[in-house]
Amino acid sequence: SRKYLIAGNWKMNKTPADGADLAKEIAAFVTKDESVEVVICPTAVALDRVSSVIEGSAVKLGAQNLYPKASGAYTGEISAEMLRAVFAKYVVLGHSERREYFGETDAFVNEKVKFSLENNLNPILCIGETLEQREADETLEVNKTQLLGGLEGVSEEDMPKVVIAYEPVWAIGTGKTATPEMAQEVHAAIRSELAAKYGEAVAEKVRILYGGSMKPANADELLAMKDIDGGLIGGAALDAKSFSDLIASAR
Ligand code: 13P
Repeated sequence: SRKYLIAGNWKMNKTPADGADLAKEIAAFVTKDESVEVVICPTAVALDRVSSVIEGSAVKLGAQNLYPKASGAYTGEISAEMLRAVFAKYVVLGHSERREYFGETDAFVNEKVKFSLENNLNPILCIGETLEQREADETLEVNKTQLLGGLEGVSEEDMPKVVIAYEPVWAIGTGKTATPEMAQEVHAAIRSELAAKYGEAVAEKVRILYGGSMKPANADELLAMKDIDGGLIGGAALDAKSFSDLIASAR
């Protein structure tokens, strides 16, 4: 009974004008009574314009990051209030690219998760192991640490607003996808960690997305797995046709 969620993470792609064009095509494809929840996450400078384009459609807006302070002297950063002002509903947090290139730790990601919840934004908490960690058999442990680290202090009441994205780092932008079985194993482990922390009923409500080279050609088999509740899509979300096909796969 979990509603599938298909989220496009545009990363550092698309000017505001190009983003508006893509958003227009996506909004035309997504119906008002859509069975799938559809979210697009443009760059910060494109948020306002994309928001206007999708206004009144069933497509929702997500941001790619936020800074966990209300306002002030934080040059280059963006607040939750600013994201809400452009009608963002979701925010991607702890993406592996931010962990790798910008040094984000579980503790910092946790601050952002809590801050987003306090400010009416639904966090999409990203976790995932590197190839080295997978080969060292550390996959479940790494994901558990990132999951529990990111959720530290998050209440049971807030958990239905939280989305988890499992993104194996070795599958991101590489064309290498986890097999449905490999992904399901981690998704099931994530759900059982959530059950241990918050109880079965809460764990059953939380959506766990897969991310990493997800595309129309592999979406059906991934989405067929019991604990895979949608996708966080990079490359294939930059093209209206492939993103529409992914939404269709989730219908
Ligand atoms: P790709 O779909 O390009 O592999 O990116 C996945 C991702 O990192 C989404 O956040």
